[in-house]
Amino acid sequence: MRKGILIVVSGFSGAGKGTLMKKLVQEYDNYALSISATTRNPRPGEENGREYFFLKKEEFKQKIAENGLIEYARYCDNYYGTPRAYVEKQLADGKDVILEIEIQGALKVKKQYPDALLLFVMPPSAEELRRRLEGRGTETQDVIDKRMHRAREEAEGIEEYEYIVVNDDLDVCVRELHEIITAAHNTPLRNKDFIEKMRKELEGEK
Ligand code: ADP
Ligand code: 5GP
Repeated sequence: MRKGILIVVSGFSGAGKGTLMKKLVQEYDNYALSISATTRNPRPGEENGREYFFLKKEEFKQKIAENGLIEYARYCDNYYGTPRAYVEKQLADGKDVILEIEIQGALKVKKQYPDALLLFVMPPSAEELRRRLEGRGTETQDVIDKRMHRAREEAEGIEEYEYIVVNDDLDVCVRELHEIITAAHNTPLRNKDFIEKMRKELEGEK
């Protein structure tokens, strides 16, 4: 059975991560999308247990205390975290598990799972990023400004990621993401057991 890998996808708010991930799991098998916990309020159309597990601050703190989160971070006045149980179960089942999380969380995941694949989604331009945030129509102007400001800070950390993908044409970007993930399965770092097995076998040869 092919081993599942942990895929961390970050990118500025409004870059299109949510849209891309939905399409990726629809179009290809073998991806499992982790659902995060958050203390932020649901946007219109969001459902508890589908986009996020929407928790009160006390409930979120309880999850942390139980070691129920792989990582958590504060982002623009709210907490976000990755529930541990789902990720571990899906990886054990051979699925590629996608975490759509911001950069502080991404770096914490990389420490715990050194063979995690870190991808960063870029918009074609800053102007287009603002257009998408405004076009989504889910945040007030004040929150949009905060997120644009946060994007500037996040841009400082892009070199921590292995690949960037530009979300200009959605379908092209989804295909590119899938190709990168497929290739990542074949790096030596992610095939240590197989390499060791081959070495042992070769030792047994004349
Ligand atoms: P994120 O999850 O990164 O915050 P979303 O997936 O919510 O971003 O996308 C932000 C907005 O941009 C949404 O209104 C979405 O429909 C739109 N969008 C996403 N990808 C594209 C694209 N390739 N071209 C044009 N608009 C896009
Ligand atoms: P939004 O409020 O737009 O849904 O998400 C805001 C930011 O939080 C995005 O950058 C998103 O990737 C990030 N995020 C979502 N879930 C998690 C999580 O579980 N952990 C961390 N660290 N960030 C998350």
